[in-house]
Amino acid sequence: MPRLSEVIAALDALWPPSRAEQWDAVGTVCGDPDAEIRRVLFAVDPVQEIADEAVELGAQLIVTHHPLYLRGTTTVAADHFKGRVVHTLIKNDIALHVAHTNADTADPGVSDALAGALDLRVVRPLVPDPTDPSGRRGLGRVGELDHPETLAEFAERAAKRLPATAQGVRVAGDPAAVVRTVAVSGGSGDSLFDAVRAAGVDAFLTADLRHHPVSEATQQSPLGLVDAAHWATEWPWCELAATQLDEISDRHGWNLRVHVSHTVTDPWSSRFSSPGAPN
Ligand SMILES: [Zn+2]
Repeated sequence: MPRLSEVIAALDALWPPSRAEQWDAVGTVCGDPDAEIRRVLFAVDPVQEIADEAVELGAQLIVTHHPLYLRGTTTVAADHFKGRVVHTLIKNDIALHVAHTNADTADPGVSDALAGALDLRVVRPLVPDPTDPSGRRGLGRVGELDHPETLAEFAERAAKRLPATAQGVRVAGDPAAVVRTVAVSGGSGDSLFDAVRAAGVDAFLTADLRHHPVSEATQQSPLGLVDAAHWATEWPWCELAATQLDEISDRHGWNLRVHVSHTVTDPWSSRFSSPGAPN
């Protein structure tokens, strides 16, 4: 049975913390390096529901994509919602480890998992990592569809393939436009419009798109935009990462039980269409 320090070393080899953005807060949030690990739970968000799920599951380690504390804190008191997560974890001997922007740019990383869920053949990163000689690491991915389809068909498939959320999938642009090449970026992607335009793709699927960037992008070119829930665009990475850890466990004879949380932690809980709204 591996110790936490051994499992973390294996995870750090997949997603080296040194490759995280300067502003990011990746790595181990809590946990005893000598603790024995038998069960691991992967999730997008380190929220209370996920901590409770890990307790119920009997996991000794949670690996999340989002950090618990992105900025410094002076308290982990249990009457604060984040402090309560820390208390739940420590009381139940559960470690928390975060792989965020270091997992975004990894090969394979968050956007490879997203592209895979959408049946896109990955061609290259959308924004290559200049320090990577292989040219495979970087932010977002540019992919090709096996068969051209309309923007509406592509969006419909995305809605089916990504895990269900209240938001579903929103589309900007001509639904009948033909899509052959697609850029994808798991999580908030609206800082990537310049790279998307430079890539010359037919569509861009990401999350958290805002009015002005979308309005300008669609006025400027016939680019189709597909906006999914932030959580849904990053969740496929949990399955990819769990498979990666499973393989490592097999190689080392660790016999780890690796789980992926299916709890929807996207914060949007309902959606109401106005009567008479388009579509
Ligand atoms: Zn995210």
